[in-house]
Amino acid sequence: MHRLQDARGNPRAADCLINDTLNPGRQGEHLTARPVGRFAPSPTGLLHLGSLLAALASYCDTRNRHGLWQLRIDDIDGPRSMPGSAEAIQKTLESLGFEWDGPILWQSQRLERYHAALQTLIDQRLVFACQCSRKSLPRGEIYPGHCRARLIDSFPVADHALRVHLSGKCSFVDTIQGLQEFDLSRDVGDSIVWRRDGLVSYALACAVDDADKVSHVVRGADLLAGTGAQLGIIKALRLTPPEYAHVPVLLDANGDKLSKHSLARPVDDSDPLEILHRAWLILGQQPLAACDTVSDFWQQAIPAWQMSRVPRTRQITV
Ligand SMILES: [Zn+2]
Repeated sequence: MHRLQDARGNPRAADCLINDTLNPGRQGEHLTARPVGRFAPSPTGLLHLGSLLAALASYCDTRNRHGLWQLRIDDIDGPRSMPGSAEAIQKTLESLGFEWDGPILWQSQRLERYHAALQTLIDQRLVFACQCSRKSLPRGEIYPGHCRARLIDSFPVADHALRVHLSGKCSFVDTIQGLQEFDLSRDVGDSIVWRRDGLVSYALACAVDDADKVSHVVRGADLLAGTGAQLGIIKALRLTPPEYAHVPVLLDANGDKLSKHSLARPVDDSDPLEILHRAWLILGQQPLAACDTVSDFWQQAIPAWQMSRVPRTRQITV
């Protein structure tokens, strides 16, 4: 398989080949030479082992590159948020010794930016109003483009979702999962950017924030499928995509995803070293010497981190 490579022969991530209608501009440069990683939990529950893997991998990857690490709370979906959960996640991260740079970025405080991005897409005649109900669409299938002709000039449109027309091919090299290729029409479809209930979509907010603020996205492989839509949006906005690495998702012994939604037990931070070592080993890293404190752990872990040791699979059963 042909692999995208940079001048030094390294695989080049997030090279998105999208047709000229969508992407007349050339790919820009990252705004900062210093790598920026992030952990971006939704405040819909407590931190569980699966999300800790993503946090730990992102943190080690970023610090190993001497980069900046951002904590972002993806709290635009107010109705799904659990009161107190953002604070609880923050507290658990602190007790595990994570240190983020700068203030926490709350998506709920970035609505103006998302609205500006949406208007940019509208101005490019890419956004249409859609009133299709979930029931009227074939379940689990790609949106068939029913309402594509209903282009809009401004938003919101009462009682309608807004979708962005995505087409063309898109590929990137995921640092863990390898080459990913999407045909945006066939595999992704016209992504919702504005929900019928008046909220900006996760895909739009996440795409904008990652492109604006982050150079290296490390997150769970359950989000790999959504990367096509996010890259399509980033390219339509003529922003520079980050590099992506998707760590395996944890499955329990029954084969169910360990997630906040399946009553996975929250991370027990009463023994932070035990849980950090456990996550470290699940990520395929070489065992560390015994440590007495979490700062000992990080002092060993950060220089020892090897992304190439993370299992190249989408799922791990624990
Ligand atoms: Zn529709």
